Parts: sequence; structure tokens; C-alpha cells
Amino acid sequence: MSTSRPRTRQSGAKSRSSAISDRVEAYIDSPLVSHRVRFDRQLFARIQGNYGIYRTWVRIASRGLDSGCTCPSDWQPCKHVSALELTWRENPKSFFDVEGFVKTLASRPKTELIDIIGKLITRAPEGLATLGVKGFDAQDGEDGEDSEW
Ligand SMILES: [Zn+2]
Repeated sequence: MSTSRPRTRQSGAKSRSSAISDRVEAYIDSPLVSHRVRFDRQLFARIQGNYGIYRTWVRIASRGLDSGCTCPSDWQPCKHVSALELTWRENPKSFFDVEGFVKTLASRPKTELIDIIGKLITRAPEGLATLGVKGFDAQDGEDGEDSEW
């Protein structure tokens, strides 16, 4: 994988593409893209956007088709998804390898792991959705339109 490629995106011929790539450019491998992690062929990060911090994810090599972002943009995939993909292309080593790290936890006692899970949940309650607890998806309670009832 080359790291010396120009940062501009060559694909697509949309009329807005030059404006979008200018807006994406500022994010690529910048401190605005933090908490970079990789797990199961997916990338995740927090991105400091114009109106707050967004949680963004994208499946590697999906060209943004398999992705998501908590920003309010109607344009999907949004610029944060593009920024995340391009950050991965630019600096893959900056992404923390969750899969590898989790394997190192295998030797820890179960009681310690349960304690760790409890602490993780209190830091990020939406993690309960991963354990099948309803009402804790990232979108729940944000606008009410996607509620399950
Ligand atoms: Zn976004």
C-alpha cells in the first residue's frame, strides 16, 4: 500500500466533488480524527466536526457504502466517512488493533473481565446495545423518530 499518493480523490465526477474533497482534506490524518480503532475489517473514530464530535465507522474497502456517522448530514456517505477512509489509507498504523488487543485479554480472570465490562459500560452506555439491551443504541433518544415503539 503506497503512502505517497496524493490526497485528492480521483473517483467520481460529481459537481460537488471538489468542494467536498477540500472539506475532507482538513480531516485526513489530523488530530480531528481521534480514537482510531480497527476491528473485524471495520474502522471507527471520533471526528471533531463543525457542530460537535461525531462517531464514524466504515467497512474497509467498501468505498463508504458500508458506513455510518452520527453527524446530521443528509449526504451519505458524509465527509467524515470519506475522511476516515482516507485517514486509513494515509496512516493505517495510527489505528488501534482491537482484535489483537482483545486476544491478550484471554489470559485475564473472568471476574476481572466482568469488572472491566462494567467500567466500559459506565463510560459508554450505548455499549449495552452490543449486549442486546434495548434502548441503548447510539441513535436512541436523539430524535425519537427511530424509536422501536
Ligand atoms: Zn458525518
